[in-house]
Amino acid sequence: MSEAESERCPFCRIAAGTLPSEQVYRDEMVVGFRDLNPQAPVHVLVIPRRHIRGINAPEAEDGAALAAMVRAANQIAREQGVAESGYRLVWNVGPNAGQSVFHLHLHVLGGRRLGWPPG
Ligand code: 5GP
Ligand code: ZN
Repeated sequence: MSEAESERCPFCRIAAGTLPSEQVYRDEMVVGFRDLNPQAPVHVLVIPRRHIRGINAPEAEDGAALAAMVRAANQIAREQGVAESGYRLVWNVGPNAGQSVFHLHLHVLGGRRLGWPPG
């Protein structure tokens, strides 16, 4: 992805720190920040620093980033105090799931009873 393209991607900009966000987690591979439009008391998005388009076409080289995202999501759940009460990790894919940002992100949702099936 070119520099110009990553400047147009909001989550590349959040990872680079050029778009402000309320970050709750960072390491060398991923960043976790609060969703702008939270759907639960705890709603954090975990993104890889490197631009990956979605979870529907993972490349072999994405393996380490995917593992880092899942590890970070579980650590965030512990730090946000929802590990015991329970939480949901969500990857939205495509229009019917409401995917709106095409930089891979894992939703961490918790702090309230989450309905099933999801709406
Ligand atoms: P999706 O529906 O693609 O799975 O979720 C995208 C999420 O990103 C939405 O929940 C939306 O509220 C959130 N979001 C979109 N743009 C921004 C932004 O600039 N900052 C933050 N913190 N969240 C954003
Ligand atoms: Zn991006």
